[in-house]
Amino acid sequence: MVVTAAVKAIRKISILVIDDDSVEHHLVHRYLGITDGWEPELTFATSGAVALRILERRPVEIVLLDYHLGGENGLNLLTKIRDVVPSSAIIMMTGQGDEELAAEAMKAGAMDYLPKGQLTPEGLQRAILKAAEERDLRRKVAEQQKLLENLARHDELTGLYNRRALLEALSSEAARARRYEGSLCLLMLDIDHFKNVNDTHGHIAGDVALAASAKVIADNIRDTDIAGRYGGEEFCIILPESDISSARRIAQRIHKNIAENSFAGPGGEEFRVTCSIGVAEYIRKLEDAQGLLERADRALYQAKEDGRNRISFS
Ligand code: GH3
Ligand code: MG
Ligand code: MG
Repeated sequence: MVVTAAVKAIRKISILVIDDDSVEHHLVHRYLGITDGWEPELTFATSGAVALRILERRPVEIVLLDYHLGGENGLNLLTKIRDVVPSSAIIMMTGQGDEELAAEAMKAGAMDYLPKGQLTPEGLQRAILKAAEERDLRRKVAEQQKLLENLARHDELTGLYNRRALLEALSSEAARARRYEGSLCLLMLDIDHFKNVNDTHGHIAGDVALAASAKVIADNIRDTDIAGRYGGEEFCIILPESDISSARRIAQRIHKNIAENSFAGPGGEEFRVTCSIGVAEYIRKLEDAQGLLERADRALYQAKEDGRNRISFS
């Protein structure tokens, strides 16, 4: 007979106890001896310096911090711990009648406080569980927030920056180039006769060609370059610390690789797309983002005028 047991995973909670009194270490150890549904992973430190060294190596979920720690100021240490491990939840252990200190600790970022004299196993366990749950919740909210911020800056179809993020980046790169007299180039790329592509092969095939062209762009630039979808079938590529000759090389590579991609239309028919690119180099000290953008746009217009499927320079 096969017996399958559904084993409920025991939640482990890592806890660092910072107290200069080893009696307190024993007390916490004893109070957390029998826990229900979770298991403490305890580490002890007798000074702030030792605690910070431990946390740097191995962050914990919960820090139990004694306010009166030898000669050290508990609030200072709390701030340092938050700098080293912002993700840890800190519970401040205060003495009797330390309500004001406790309030200050909460303001400085402690998640809870416990008066030492009234400590019970149940009280300590409840505070730890509550802090651990609150910490998980805060982390989830922060992750969601990050995700939303990311979505707000990226274009859904291509995964590249959207117009707003692109213009922000261009503005700060132009300011940087001006301040440090660095070089900066901008490529503006537009797919040729894209309306025909949609009309002939359908909007979905058009989307596939757009996304693939965006991937060619992303694959052919450095980590420090910034590519985005400026609109419809038009892309911008910001090349910080690049002079015109390296911008030309990158433009040529992208131009060639986009034309080499082939796609299948709804009837299985093969098609390809070409693009036109305008290249502009930032004019030192004289120009802002808008000026650079206008010249790249004019160069792109020139490439279209000259017959498309080519690179033009401002
Ligand atoms: P040109 O060579 O002068 O650039 O000609 P074009 O046809 O590419 O330019 P035009 O501006 O006339 O048309 C752009 C087309 O791009 C029209 C529009 O429907 C299409 N387009 C814009 N965004 C998308 C998109 O997200 N998906 C698809 N499939 N098509 C798009
Ligand atoms: Mg076009
Ligand atoms: Mg266009």
